[in-house]
Amino acid sequence: MRGDEIRARFLSFFKKRNHLIQPSAPLSLDDPALLFTIAGMVPFKPFFLGQKKPPAARLVSCQLCLRTNDLDRVGKTPHHHTLFEMLGNFSLGDYFKEEACQWGWEFVTEELGLEGKRIWITIFQDDDETDLIWRKIGIPSSKILRKGEADNFWSSAEVGPCGPDTEIFFDRGEDFGCRRKDCQPGCDCSRWVELWNLVFMQFSRDEEGKLSSLPSKNIDTGMGLERTASVLQGVEDDYETDLFRPILEWLMKLITEAPEDKLGTRAICDHLRALTFLLGEGIFPSNVGRGYVVRRILRRACRFGRRLGLQEPFLYQGVPVVTKLMEHSYPHLAKAKEDVARIIRAEEENFLTTLSRGMRILEGIIYELKRKKKELIPPSEVFKLYDTYGFPLDLTEEIAGEEGIRIDRNLTEELLTKQRERGRKEFRGQRIGMREMETASFPSLKEKVARSEFVGHESLTAKTRLLAILKIGVLADQLTKQEDGALVLASTPFYPEGGGQVADQGRISTSRGVAQVLDVQRVEDGIIVHQVRMLKGILRQGEEALAQVNEERRRAIARAHTATHLLQAALREILGKTVKQSGSLVDEDRLRFDFTHFSSLSESEKSRVASLLNEKIRKDLPVRVKEMGLAQARARGAIALFEEKYEGTVRVVKVGKFSMEVCAGTHLSRSGEIGLL
Ligand SMILES: [Zn+2]
Ligand SMILES: [Zn+2]
Repeated sequence: MRGDEIRARFLSFFKKRNHLIQPSAPLSLDDPALLFTIAGMVPFKPFFLGQKKPPAARLVSCQLCLRTNDLDRVGKTPHHHTLFEMLGNFSLGDYFKEEACQWGWEFVTEELGLEGKRIWITIFQDDDETDLIWRKIGIPSSKILRKGEADNFWSSAEVGPCGPDTEIFFDRGEDFGCRRKDCQPGCDCSRWVELWNLVFMQFSRDEEGKLSSLPSKNIDTGMGLERTASVLQGVEDDYETDLFRPILEWLMKLITEAPEDKLGTRAICDHLRALTFLLGEGIFPSNVGRGYVVRRILRRACRFGRRLGLQEPFLYQGVPVVTKLMEHSYPHLAKAKEDVARIIRAEEENFLTTLSRGMRILEGIIYELKRKKKELIPPSEVFKLYDTYGFPLDLTEEIAGEEGIRIDRNLTEELLTKQRERGRKEFRGQRIGMREMETASFPSLKEKVARSEFVGHESLTAKTRLLAILKIGVLADQLTKQEDGALVLASTPFYPEGGGQVADQGRISTSRGVAQVLDVQRVEDGIIVHQVRMLKGILRQGEEALAQVNEERRRAIARAHTATHLLQAALREILGKTVKQSGSLVDEDRLRFDFTHFSSLSESEKSRVASLLNEKIRKDLPVRVKEMGLAQARARGAIALFEEKYEGTVRVVKVGKFSMEVCAGTHLSRSGEIGLL
């Protein structure tokens, strides 16, 4: 029996028994406790908790679920998946144990046609009621096993609704078993397949652990579609059912050599299916939350691909295969498939670059450790691999583990936490989104754009051309109303964040559309990327565009920046040349001074600094900019504060004879424009 047919029969079986069919809810539900829908009952939680009125007292669904808590195991066994479909029937204060068991039996034996004598049952040790029901149905006592709380008692939390459950097992036969004496349903050998779990929500547990009966009792059941299909199709491995077969066949055609085991091919099939659904639902790779899960799954699949000799991006080619296989049950996949493939490809390209660089370094570390007969990679090395080279922690652990080498996760994570705290302090507005975008777009962007010219010192507007458009991190042809994206221009007046000065904001428009510029970053030598939100119309790649910097804001920033230079000079004059600015951030509404000596200034020193500063402003000194080599600038006494790469010529900004600094930022033309501080 095909997977599709099992799904259809399940729904219609319960529909005939007055259940209302519910479509599969999204994988990402608005549930603060869960990143993903992990079971069929999750979308119905508000009904079970009495927070919402259900559309009917009897519901049935085939729900897509995603679990990643044991991602490492996916591929190692025939039955582990990230994404799977769960068939379930639900009673909300309506029928209870008797009907649930009776219908379970009927469906398994009559609809699916499984032999009754192959069915085994487990129940909770104290649940005599359910024992009696199964015996009345005709199951011999010898095939009803009583188990403890760990196996057959369900609860979602310490406190709240809970209850016993009962499981329906299928016996493949002794030949599939481990032949151990204690081999019985629940043994992890291939003999026993847990088909269906029926949960009886009949109690509520209070803080002291005491159970009381719920006024209205509920039923929640879950049957894994993939493993049920494996039983009905007479295969031991879910990945050999028709639910996976076309994906596996597609993959085997790509691989030239026969793989040693099924680990990699199973994992790739599973992950590709999960990715197609996740991205198809609009959950894209990123470094946080759900997006990070997507990224992890994709990277794991990529890595198995490499092991199978697939050195180039390949996953994206499988998206149409998955779509074709699943689209008549999940029609939304068809609409999304091109975007999904495009994003997967960009992410693969990016990861392969990261991977090959990180692998070389890690292999070097492992080689050295082995030579020294050591077994632990120093946490600082693991951290560096992650932080500097973007090499995933779990990958380091996995690869090192294969060589018998450990990492110290706790110590490494401490380093990571510290790093994140630093990062939070540096966080500014849209910047995080920008960083994520960069990593996804690098390779393809570099091919398209050699460099973009910054003309913002001379002018606040520029007539230019739209060289590239990025949408969710990948190249796109256009941006339309309300969309967010990023633009690269042939030349731009927008100052990209750097040298302690924030980015400009403003607008980029064409004859047909207008976008608001939120942030500007220099992502690669010479490439300036504008993060934008569409205000109206449409922008297309290749069009003539007008770039306009918000003048008022730029001017406020310039006031702050020129003032910072004056302050720096004043501090040096009063406190001596050892003053070093440890970082200042210039933005439009404040000057944030962060001088190494600043906190130790006495009141009298502070007032001397302030009056010197005001004197220089009152004198209305001219601000002049000259370009020269860095060595020459230093020789003339210019201060170079930011330890950034200064290549070729640098800009030296002079305010009268009072201040001289190497600086790429934007300034006023006279000190008097600052206004008194
Ligand atoms: Zn066994
Ligand atoms: Zn400066």
